[in-house]
Amino acid sequence: MKYDYLIVGAGLFGAVFANRMREAGRTCLVIDRRGTLAGNIYTKEEAGIQVHKYGAHIFHTSNKRVWEYIQQFAEFNHYINSPVAVYKDELYNLPFNMNTFSKMWGVRTPAEAREKIAGQIAGLHIENPANLEEQALSLAGPDVYEKLIKGYTEKQWGRDCKDLPAFIIKRLPLRFVYDNNYFTDPYQGIPKGGYTRIVEKLLGDTPVRLGISYHEFLKENGQKGDAGDSFGKTLYTGMIDEYFNYCLGELQYRSLRFEEEVIPGCDNYQGNAVVNYTEREVPYTRIIEHKHFEFGTQADTVITREYPAEWKRGDEPYYPVNDELNNALYERYRRMAEKEENVLFGGRLGLYRYMDMDKVIEAAISLAESEQ
Ligand code: UDP
Repeated sequence: MKYDYLIVGAGLFGAVFANRMREAGRTCLVIDRRGTLAGNIYTKEEAGIQVHKYGAHIFHTSNKRVWEYIQQFAEFNHYINSPVAVYKDELYNLPFNMNTFSKMWGVRTPAEAREKIAGQIAGLHIENPANLEEQALSLAGPDVYEKLIKGYTEKQWGRDCKDLPAFIIKRLPLRFVYDNNYFTDPYQGIPKGGYTRIVEKLLGDTPVRLGISYHEFLKENGQKGDAGDSFGKTLYTGMIDEYFNYCLGELQYRSLRFEEEVIPGCDNYQGNAVVNYTEREVPYTRIIEHKHFEFGTQADTVITREYPAEWKRGDEPYYPVNDELNNALYERYRRMAEKEENVLFGGRLGLYRYMDMDKVIEAAISLAESEQ
């Protein structure tokens, strides 16, 4: 064998797996159909600013082992994610906390805020929330739901909140302190110099071929690599349904469209890295001003408007739609995957699961360990 592993996908999962396997003395070849490394955490310097080309990525974890591991590959700054939400001409702090409640209702103390929310919820009579709308209403009441949740969520997922699973909103708890830190994890930051460099360092001298799909690679090399670059096992981090030629049907994904704008001579466009637009009528969900992730002082700025989009074959898949129907279909693909000899599946697309970066690292390390 020329390589112990063929790794399909040069994203975070593939790169961490390659890193751990190389440490264990194994050889890997990484391929990716994109012309760039780092999958969706790819960052590129523009106007002296690290631009998150496939959506903003803020690193956060409560896993000390993961935090220590990733810091071998980058120095992290002290960025704390504190998004601002714009609803019509009103501005609110996120996540939902005393700053939000105070702005919304003029309350000052946690007791007043709790009383206000209890009053909003009373009379709704939702015992077992069956969907996202019921979950949000029973958690925060109609004011927060209408102004900060409904429009944003319906734009992002392209469907009515009544047709969405309740678990999505569990990511947004209520907080009765004046604290705008979006995450509750003890470790958080942005890697100085961007994410692409992390992936470069993770891969080290592992050979990489960019701009070649798995399909093209197999055609070139024979099914088991016997005609060229031979390999023992494959780690596949692409879409699991695509791997099986959609033989059981397509899984659904949500896609995104990014509209990037360099604004020369503007040193500060919106005063925050992340500003969410929560009303339905504004077509984008958020504007990212990249320089604020690194406390940039450049004379110019780069912003990205993020438009949610329905996914169709050929588009970039971003979010798996983990509703019952899709999860059931994924389960059938997963059972097929179990039977694939010498093929491992990993990452957000291979496992059809929303995963934060720290969870990706955890899962890739543990897969690598189980291979030793
Ligand atoms: N959300 C919301 N209003 C906001 C931000 C988020 O209702 O201003 C909800 C929405 O349902 C969304 C979920 O929280 O789908 C997760 O949002 P987040 O921005 O954390 O997701 P990301 O795309 O950053 O992973």
